[in-house]
Amino acid sequence: MYYTKKRRIKKGPIIVLVVIVLIIILVIVGINLYKHYTSDEYKLGKAGYDENEIKEILKFDDKYITYAIEHKYEDDFIPLMKEKYFMWKNYDNYIKYINDEYGDKKVDYSKVVSLVNVGANNEPYTHTKKTDMDKGYAILVNKYTSLPEKYAPDDIVEMSNWYAYPNNRIRNDVYAAFKEMSEAAKEDGYTLIVNSSYRSYEEQKEIYDDYEDNRGKEYADKYAARPDFSEHQTGLSLDIFSPGANMSNFAETETYKWLSENSYKYGFILRYPEGKEDITGYSYEAWHYRYLGNELAKKVYDSGLTYDEYYAYYLDD
Ligand SMILES: [Zn+2]
Repeated sequence: MYYTKKRRIKKGPIIVLVVIVLIIILVIVGINLYKHYTSDEYKLGKAGYDENEIKEILKFDDKYITYAIEHKYEDDFIPLMKEKYFMWKNYDNYIKYINDEYGDKKVDYSKVVSLVNVGANNEPYTHTKKTDMDKGYAILVNKYTSLPEKYAPDDIVEMSNWYAYPNNRIRNDVYAAFKEMSEAAKEDGYTLIVNSSYRSYEEQKEIYDDYEDNRGKEYADKYAARPDFSEHQTGLSLDIFSPGANMSNFAETETYKWLSENSYKYGFILRYPEGKEDITGYSYEAWHYRYLGNELAKKVYDSGLTYDEYYAYYLDD
């Protein structure tokens, strides 16, 4: 006898299963849609950046990504952010400088970043501040950063005629470093001689006033620093020549070549290099060396930056 039982498919569980699968699919789709519309990519696209630009921006830190999302499209944003010495606190000033100075011209972003970082987007002797004396030998003095009023170091010593023309004085440690450098130069066959060194507030004032009285303020500002704004008043700067050389020919001498390649080993850097006049605010001075101490001098030398740029990026706080 046959006992047949038709195998019945139970529909209930299948419907439940289908519903569960559908819910799962919907949830997944929903999550993905949510992710898409809340993603940085989507928001940057909405802000006006294209696919390649978005890729670049996503490499930046979160705060910059947020900035790009929250502000309207700026075509200077990415090139500025990619600059090695970009400083976020200066962003608005970069944009302002670009708008003021470049118009439709091709923007030199490196230059914009350098100039604004050091404050040279402003006229010399405007927007000035006092230097931070706690920095010791690393203090910055330029046309935007001054010494305390009538500053005078308390460890100034007289330089011997062996190392300098008469009446040169300098800070003790700087003198020791210069002597060491001078001996090393001598061993390599070069003679160094200092013709200008520490200048007091009064001496600097006399030089500046003299220029100003005879040739006017513009001329004075071009050829002399204002008192309290001169590196010579720090007692950390020396004008170094070879015997017989002068301002017009020293840059062509072998002695200069030796100095430019070796001075950092003794704590000195070339302070006003060629081609950086806009940044330092000074003409190229092959003879003007600034003492920073060995460690910092090497870092600045290796960076290839002017001291103004180095200080703004690494030391200013
Ligand atoms: Zn000098």
